[in-house]
Amino acid sequence: MSFKPANSIQDLQYFGEFGGVNPSISDSSTYTFLSAKTMFDTFEGNADGCYLYSRHSSPSNLYLGEALAAMEHTETANVTASGMGAITAVMLQLCNAGDHIVSSRTIYGGTYAFFKNFTPKFNIETSFVDITKLEAVEAAITKRTKVLYCESVSNPLLEVADIKGLAAIAKKYSLKLVVDNTFSPLSISPAILGADVVIHSLTKFINGSSDTVGGVVCGTQEFINDLRNVNDGAGMLLGSTMDSLRASSILKNLRTLHIRMQQHSKNGMYLAERFEKDGLKTVYPGLSSHPSHNLFKRMMHTEYGFGGMLTIDVGSLEKANELMELMQHKNLGYLAVSLGFYKTLFSAPGTSTSSEIPEEEQAEMGLSDGLIRFSIGLDADIERTYNMMRKCMTELNILVKKTTAI
Ligand SMILES: *Cc1c(COP(=O)(O)O)cnc(C)c1O
Repeated sequence: MSFKPANSIQDLQYFGEFGGVNPSISDSSTYTFLSAKTMFDTFEGNADGCYLYSRHSSPSNLYLGEALAAMEHTETANVTASGMGAITAVMLQLCNAGDHIVSSRTIYGGTYAFFKNFTPKFNIETSFVDITKLEAVEAAITKRTKVLYCESVSNPLLEVADIKGLAAIAKKYSLKLVVDNTFSPLSISPAILGADVVIHSLTKFINGSSDTVGGVVCGTQEFINDLRNVNDGAGMLLGSTMDSLRASSILKNLRTLHIRMQQHSKNGMYLAERFEKDGLKTVYPGLSSHPSHNLFKRMMHTEYGFGGMLTIDVGSLEKANELMELMQHKNLGYLAVSLGFYKTLFSAPGTSTSSEIPEEEQAEMGLSDGLIRFSIGLDADIERTYNMMRKCMTELNILVKKTTAI
């Protein structure tokens, strides 16, 4: 398959109401109609281009949605108030009571909690599988299965999903393949590889300034229309609507995403290679030691790299906490959850973002106590960062000083 470049930001063109280079922000929750008949038609879904009420759609949200759809190569997209707002609406739109989901077992903690604890209320059950084993995925499918769910690069273990392989299975059993692409914007384009619906938490790399939550659902016009349907659309009825002011600020941040991803990836690769050489147990899809390194390479748009997420294992939670506190003290980043910020962010997933997953299950999926998840920042001098991190690790005996080693 020949890839088009994932980034077509230079092709976006918006003229504001007064000829401004940015589209005007729509500061209205409701819209007037010149005739009563048009209002009726709009409620029936038959008046394209008319705005009704801003929970349904608004110009600012549509601009952002269009830009994200262009990025993900889907017909259209619908922005939401958060990533979870996108995930919950999509899943409740696709599944009815009695339906079944096959999901990767290594997914964002909130998504895991939703499938495990929330959707069973509606008699929607989920089987969690090792997504890297296509036989296991296929074996978990039942007559009731409606959706295959995964993250292209999983949180926090950085497992890589074979999206083409999963799409083939989805097709064979008439399922929808839903892919959360939050960890790998621009690098991986799930829709090109066969995903039916692509979701992002905009909170992370796409917005990139850790100042808002947001989400998006990218898919066909038909599916997005269903989500927005005033009578039975989960997007419309659950009400997870993004505010226009936020949509306009996220659109502005989106314009630098391609440059930021290149820098996150460059810095991520640099640190991963050095950490691994130093003997630290390092997981990064750009390392040839990563079990899915070749798979990632086959799927990726090379120019955006392997992303900004990496993990190291320092042996115990105590060591992990000590190291994170020391690195924060030395201004090497923040001890904080989330990702995609200009500063490096680090956290111990077992006691934070994945704490929704019971301890036994954490152990089974290889989520160990000493694991630290890094979202590598945009540091201009990554070599200095590395040297300072190395010093912290040596001070805490995580790395043994080369000179004292036998
Ligand atoms: C953060 C995150 C989410 C949830 O997004 P919110 O914007 O916090 O609701 C979903 N999936 C992944 C992979 C995430 O990292």
